[in-house]
Amino acid sequence: MGSGRSGSTLLGILLNLHSDVVSPGEISNVGRFRRGKRPCSCGNNVHTCSYWSSIMENWEKLNTHESVNRTIEKGLKIENFKSPRAWFKIIFNYPFQTQYFENYLQGKYNFFKAIKEESGKDIVVDISKNPLRAYVLSKHPDIDLRIIHLVRDGRGVSYSIMKKSNRKQKPFWRAALYWVVINRISNFICKKTKNSGLIRYEDLITQPNETLNEISNIIDVNLQTVMEKAELNLAQDESHIMAGNILRKSKSIKLKLDTEWQQKMNPKQLKSFRIMARNTLKKYGYALRV
Ligand SMILES: [Zn+2]
Repeated sequence: MGSGRSGSTLLGILLNLHSDVVSPGEISNVGRFRRGKRPCSCGNNVHTCSYWSSIMENWEKLNTHESVNRTIEKGLKIENFKSPRAWFKIIFNYPFQTQYFENYLQGKYNFFKAIKEESGKDIVVDISKNPLRAYVLSKHPDIDLRIIHLVRDGRGVSYSIMKKSNRKQKPFWRAALYWVVINRISNFICKKTKNSGLIRYEDLITQPNETLNEISNIIDVNLQTVMEKAELNLAQDESHIMAGNILRKSKSIKLKLDTEWQQKMNPKQLKSFRIMARNTLKKYGYALRV
């Protein structure tokens, strides 16, 4: 949970190295993926990838074809964190009071169940960033949810969002505002849910052992073997990751801090960011001047 461009794909790949964990990517994108609009990291689409087509088939067995479609459609409204109405509905109406939410959550639960069955793993790591989605999932009594709020220096996030190569490119001020708002909301959700915690991207890269220990405490899984495998340069087997950034296609990944923004952002942008996000930068322990 948190803002995009914060290293969640990398974190997902790291956790996937644990023998009990499967990290199938940003699975909130299942709608577009199911319509064949987003490829799997193996190069196929949902229909031609044997892994995902089997998960979809199993999901439809646990629900029905129509019910899976309804779950995906409802998700666009229920998990729309930009909509005050969606927040109001979740926070002020206990979801299980209505059949609508109950059916929706059961559909989601079955999706996770289908992923677990196909992968043979007990723990599913979803790298979706949406805090409202995390909060909604916390309402299912049988989903043992652990939430990691992943935060990265907002200037790095904003620089990445502003880059021309980003297909969802946004102007600087919108990127900065997005970073502040999404992290403040994520903080609020962490306070409202148990088994959640904050991790900084920079700490994950520069002190991976200590940071994975902190994650171990949040998710209650010993991640010792993850670092041992990561030190072997993260050699990945064939993966089937839905969405996430370009890293998901890499065969090997090095833990290297991305500091391009420190050289490329101009002083005016850095000053504007300081003015807009001063308190949020300080809250997460980032220096105001770099
Ligand atoms: Zn695949």
